[in-house]
Amino acid sequence: MSKGKETIETGWNLDNSYADLPESFFTSLNPTPVRSPKLIILNHSLATSLGLNVQKLQSEDSVAVFAGNQIPEGASPLAQAYAGHQFEHFTMLGDGRALLLGEQVTPEGERVDIQLKGSGRTPYSRGGDGRAGLGPMLREYIISEAMHALGIPTNRSLAVVTTGESVIRETDQPGAILTRVATSHLRVGTFQYAAKWGTVEELQVLADYTLQRHFPNVVDDDNRYLSLLQEVIKRQAALIAKWQLVGFVHGVMNTDNMTISGETIDYGPCAFMDVYDPATVFSSIDMQGRYAYGNQPPIAGWNLARFAETLLPLLHDDQEQAIKLAQDEISDFAKLYHSHWLAGMRAKLGIFNEEAEDETIIEDLLSMMQKYRADYTNTFVALTFDKSEDTVLFDTEEFTKWHEQWQARLGRQEESKVSSRDLMQNSNPALIPRNHRVEAALEAAVNQGDYSVMERLLDVLSSPYAHSPAQAEYATPPEPSSRPYRTYCGT
Ligand code: AMP
Ligand code: MG
Repeated sequence: MSKGKETIETGWNLDNSYADLPESFFTSLNPTPVRSPKLIILNHSLATSLGLNVQKLQSEDSVAVFAGNQIPEGASPLAQAYAGHQFEHFTMLGDGRALLLGEQVTPEGERVDIQLKGSGRTPYSRGGDGRAGLGPMLREYIISEAMHALGIPTNRSLAVVTTGESVIRETDQPGAILTRVATSHLRVGTFQYAAKWGTVEELQVLADYTLQRHFPNVVDDDNRYLSLLQEVIKRQAALIAKWQLVGFVHGVMNTDNMTISGETIDYGPCAFMDVYDPATVFSSIDMQGRYAYGNQPPIAGWNLARFAETLLPLLHDDQEQAIKLAQDEISDFAKLYHSHWLAGMRAKLGIFNEEAEDETIIEDLLSMMQKYRADYTNTFVALTFDKSEDTVLFDTEEFTKWHEQWQARLGRQEESKVSSRDLMQNSNPALIPRNHRVEAALEAAVNQGDYSVMERLLDVLSSPYAHSPAQAEYATPPEPSSRPYRTYCGT
């Protein structure tokens, strides 16, 4: 975009502090231009909060920016280098189909990454084509925005454009590019890359950059790298608890897909659980269930241990001391996670104060839900409104007994039943992006060019705690099917 007026009017206010890191951390390059870009969806409220002009963003010039055909002023596109443990195997990775355009400095002075995903090959593409299909990019848009509305830290989706070119996957798909917004794309894998192939000085530059960007409140601490570790552990403990509380299964918790900021990233094979079952897995490649719903907390702990290892040279001059410091922090993760989870579960059951037996009440409910194959989301909604669901669970004597215990528990707190119900209403979403609903929206969009199904879905998902009549239709679980729902990586 030739500067000046156009950039200013659109509201782009781009900088690229990441480009000031040592050269080994990235490769500067431009997106590969595409044939005929077309805007499919634009996130108006996000655009506005970033200081961007919604009208101007729909102009031909702006759509060309979303497609990678034009570079807005202030941008310095680059592919980030990183590594990661994919399942348990450590490997070199990097942005194979994404480019960081730069950081938008918002009217509030916040700095967020603007990244194009599907923008062409990079030196880190390995065998891949650097591209993305419309279905998976719209899926990321829907689910990331639903996560945001649920109150879960996540990268956001600003726009999806089609490229006018096809991508070859199992079946040919329209090519698409997603504009992703994140407080940063720094990952555990970025630190693994620096620790494995960089010098200690480079690692330190990365750690200091991260501290400045995400944790400025601890930069003056005596051991700021230990504080960095503590802060990342805190954010991840809070994040994973939120996933568990809504039944979100990430599906590919490789260390390259775990952010330092504590935002959810990488929406490839994720999906929400219907029936409560800790063994729930959707990803077609997760044969062993490593990333099953119930394994997410320990896997997060494992990933954070990998992060801690990268920081050892910075934690203490003496290696043994450094290891001891790291281990102490890592062992805190499980405790921190558990306290977030417990607090969240209490809220889901309308409980304000703490009693030792609360955990038993929670565990008893969950094990009944698993035994009787109850829908996770709808069971909590039924409890919120004191409805009896027409399901096996609600018909059992076991449940009736549990219900009495729970009611007695609510009676032992000062807060009224009305307050409990308010708390539950705000803690139990009326709906989640049900897999069959998301699929129906994508089918209409990709195969029929009909975006209205997706728009209605996005609309009801944007206020999950409203419990409005319009949402009821979207709360129905899928028919039990002989074929389990499957998701795919790298689509
Ligand atoms: P993911 O499974 O999405 O976390 O991706 C793992 C790695 O594969 C990352 O380095 C991606 O950039 C890369 N990748 C995924 N899809 C493609 C593609 N179509 N072309 C090039 N690289 C890709
Ligand atoms: Mg990834």
